[in-house]
Amino acid sequence: MEIKSASFVTSYAKPGDFPAPALMEIAVAGKSNVGKSSFINGMTRQKKLAKTSQKPGKTRLVNYFLLNGAFYLVDLPGYGFAQVSKAEKERWGEMMEGYLKGSENLRHMFLLMDIRHSPTRDDETMLRYVRILNIPFTVILTKADKVAKSKVPMRVNALMKELVLPGREWLIPFSSETGFGRDRVLARMEEVLSS
Ligand code: GDP
Repeated sequence: MEIKSASFVTSYAKPGDFPAPALMEIAVAGKSNVGKSSFINGMTRQKKLAKTSQKPGKTRLVNYFLLNGAFYLVDLPGYGFAQVSKAEKERWGEMMEGYLKGSENLRHMFLLMDIRHSPTRDDETMLRYVRILNIPFTVILTKADKVAKSKVPMRVNALMKELVLPGREWLIPFSSETGFGRDRVLARMEEVLSS
């Protein structure tokens, strides 16, 4: 499949505001600075669709993007800011829980992690949560251009083991700089939307 159109629809600040289920949804989550905005912009080939590098303290929102007039890509608020308050963390948790538990049309989650690093505690928590809720997911290993091409398979294997995933197809190395991995993500989207 190809992404022919992508537009920002709306943002939500609290679970009660989420729209009534209308279209299928694919969610995107990851810690702040992992390359989530760059991933959305890279997939849709729109440089400014998702705002890059949101600063801590800014209101964390759930952003809905309409793709091909057919499904929503749902940008979940980034996690793992070191310097946020307990209240802010709780608010984030409520948002996440509200979205994940309430979204009847959620078909898949792209969980973003930096290819160079071991999963953080927050990544592990997120993954545990997705597993408990039985949400099908793919781990997107971002910034793949930052490791030598020959080392990519090694990193995929290492993270597969660390995350206790059953096979390499659960992880897709990706670079928003070079477009590496984009075709595989598109294929995964197509699979998800047609199943
Ligand atoms: P977000 O906070 O998760 O939305 O992350 P951003 O998309 O804003 O990216 C954070 C930083 O990482 C920015 O400086 C990006 O330019 C950089 N970045 C994101 N994706 C890639 C990538 O695939 N390759 C490289 N080299 N840098 C990236």
